[in-house]
Amino acid sequence: MPFSTLGLSPSLLLAISQKQYLAPTAIQTAAIPAILRGDDVLASAQTGSGKTAAFVLPILQRLLNQPAQQAQRSASANSRKNPRALILVPTRELAMQVGQTLEQFAHGLSTSLNSPLKISTLFGGVSINPQMMALRGGADIVVATPGRLLDLIDHNALSLSAVAMLVLDEADHLLDLGFSDEITRILSLLPKQRQNLFFSATFPSKVQTLTKTILKHPIRIAV
Ligand code: AMP
Repeated sequence: MPFSTLGLSPSLLLAISQKQYLAPTAIQTAAIPAILRGDDVLASAQTGSGKTAAFVLPILQRLLNQPAQQAQRSASANSRKNPRALILVPTRELAMQVGQTLEQFAHGLSTSLNSPLKISTLFGGVSINPQMMALRGGADIVVATPGRLLDLIDHNALSLSAVAMLVLDEADHLLDLGFSDEITRILSLLPKQRQNLFFSATFPSKVQTLTKTILKHPIRIAV
């Protein structure tokens, strides 16, 4: 099945062909239409399956379909754009990788939008100040490790009040690294009405418990 049947716009299809992806992987074929419909997704997927593009492409498409409301911007005191998509990842390396994939696919979309989508990649182990500065103009999509995200929220550098799409990437690693309390706090700061996308390679009982907390009637995908 070609990419062109999955519901993505011509600008994204062009970016996909520029990346020389010839056909969608199994997880992309299953996840992209489900995410575009607005369903929650529970995916069992390993690294190398193409899982990153499986959520990055439909998230970009949904943001293209729903340009940021002027109202949302003027409502915030400093006209900052609050993120509409939040991608939680366990490590700095994965944050950089997902951020880079987002940037590559978002690059060609600027012409379809009044203002280009802004992507912020946030992780610990480096100074917080440049990340605070970068967030001053707001962000449409945030990729973050949980601890640094909460630090930045505590510094009032961003708010999660407009997040409509949440991704947990490598959820099993997030829990293995001890981020359970951080995830609970982050979930408490998100709007209740949102789409949830959950990716994990393994499903031990603590991961299954988290899926039940987060997901509503998910489409299940195993590749
Ligand atoms: P991931 O599983 O998301 O870490 O992706 C693994 C690798 O596969 C990355 O280098 C991607 O750029 C590449 N990739 C993802 N989707 C496709 C596709 N449909 N065709 C070819 N390569 C892909």
